[in-house]
Amino acid sequence: MSDIPQERRVLTAIPGPKSVELQARRTAAVAAGVGSTLPVFTARAGGGIIEDVDGNRLIDFGSGIAVTSVGASAEAVVRRASAQLADFTHTCFMVTPYEGYVEVCERLAELTPGDHAKKSALFNSGAEAVENAVKIARAYTKRTAVVVFDHGYHGRTNLTMALTSKNMPYKQGFGPFAPEVYRVPVAYGYRWPTGPENAGAEASAQAIDEITKQIGAENVAAIIIEPVLGEGGFIEPAKGFLPAIARFAKDNGIVFVADEIQSGFCRTGQWFACEDEGIVPDLITTAKGIAGGLPLSAVTGRAEIMDAAHSGGLGGTYGGNPVACAGALGAIETMRELDLNARARRIEEVMKGRLEEMRAKLPNGAVIGDVRGRGAMIAIELVKPGTKDPDAAATAALAKACHAEGLLVLTCGTYGNVLRFLPPLVIGEDLLNEGLDILERAFATL
Ligand SMILES: *Cc1c(COP(=O)(O)O)cnc(C)c1O
Repeated sequence: MSDIPQERRVLTAIPGPKSVELQARRTAAVAAGVGSTLPVFTARAGGGIIEDVDGNRLIDFGSGIAVTSVGASAEAVVRRASAQLADFTHTCFMVTPYEGYVEVCERLAELTPGDHAKKSALFNSGAEAVENAVKIARAYTKRTAVVVFDHGYHGRTNLTMALTSKNMPYKQGFGPFAPEVYRVPVAYGYRWPTGPENAGAEASAQAIDEITKQIGAENVAAIIIEPVLGEGGFIEPAKGFLPAIARFAKDNGIVFVADEIQSGFCRTGQWFACEDEGIVPDLITTAKGIAGGLPLSAVTGRAEIMDAAHSGGLGGTYGGNPVACAGALGAIETMRELDLNARARRIEEVMKGRLEEMRAKLPNGAVIGDVRGRGAMIAIELVKPGTKDPDAAATAALAKACHAEGLLVLTCGTYGNVLRFLPPLVIGEDLLNEGLDILERAFATL
């Protein structure tokens, strides 16, 4: 980790004058379609801190969207990626291969659930991994239909926009979308009409009914689900839902794909979130936390499925770039050495304890409709007091109040009413608590 003091420091307004100046240049030069949560320009980052160009130090509850789980300048990532950078930057694995790529695939085979023979293919972004999982599943099953779920998020490319549930901002005006994609219900416990205790059984029955009646199970190549839904609002499918869907896929020769791009690599206190219900996916997509901030993604799965695509059918110029692979090996080394699964579980304990306390203590505590998530993937869903009506305005106001005090938080959710917390797993407990203090004070501004 770089030597950034692990202390919050607010010296100027946030954003400060230098950030404001850079933001003006950015507005003139960068396309408007690329947004930013907080227009504070980064100078350096590491551990639980982001230091900006004005010298402010923000507490990081975002990890660049669940990416820098080992911190944004982890020693092993920097060391290994720097050494690789000096040796060679690129050959293209499809032209002349290199060991780092193979080693990442070996690690993925060890770390992902199941003791069957596994193989992997590496790509650059999460969306690319999901697209390739679909290609592989179609090649293996010789079927075309793909089933996804309400509130699901799988990326911004054309096929993954089709797979993604939410229109604004991801899809609006960008169609037409890829065909043969079908969306079915998910067990969203907090909002399930007959209550969370019934959601697992009822939602899986509904989903299976729609698949068999509307698509025909024999036409389905893949069922793709996030074991904890990320952008859709940190929704943990109610107990029993995932096993029922996985069993249905198995019984019908459908490739079951766990999209663990956000939930994987220790984020939920397990290497992969699907382990909590003992699910062994046929294919698993990973990205985000895999490489300590360097762009890398993977599809890993049963060898016979992974080998279904013909030679030359998968790949890409940069897929499994050697520097990114070195970063991944450094990130995995860090996760093992520091036992970041245990750290994630400790973060859950601290965060959920404090958030439940806030809910009980605040006079307007009823605005916290739900506290949920696992490990260091925790969220609160905000509603209008005494109802379950989503309160996106309160969510935005809270995020803004936190930002002003030097705490970076992100929002998410189909209704824009979820405040999500994704701290680096290496964040110190003092910073974690200080961040929660800021959040608690922010509620007073509502
Ligand atoms: C972020 C994300 C993606 C897309 O990853 P990109 O690297 O942004 O293309 C896909 N699936 C899930 C679950 C994600 O969280």
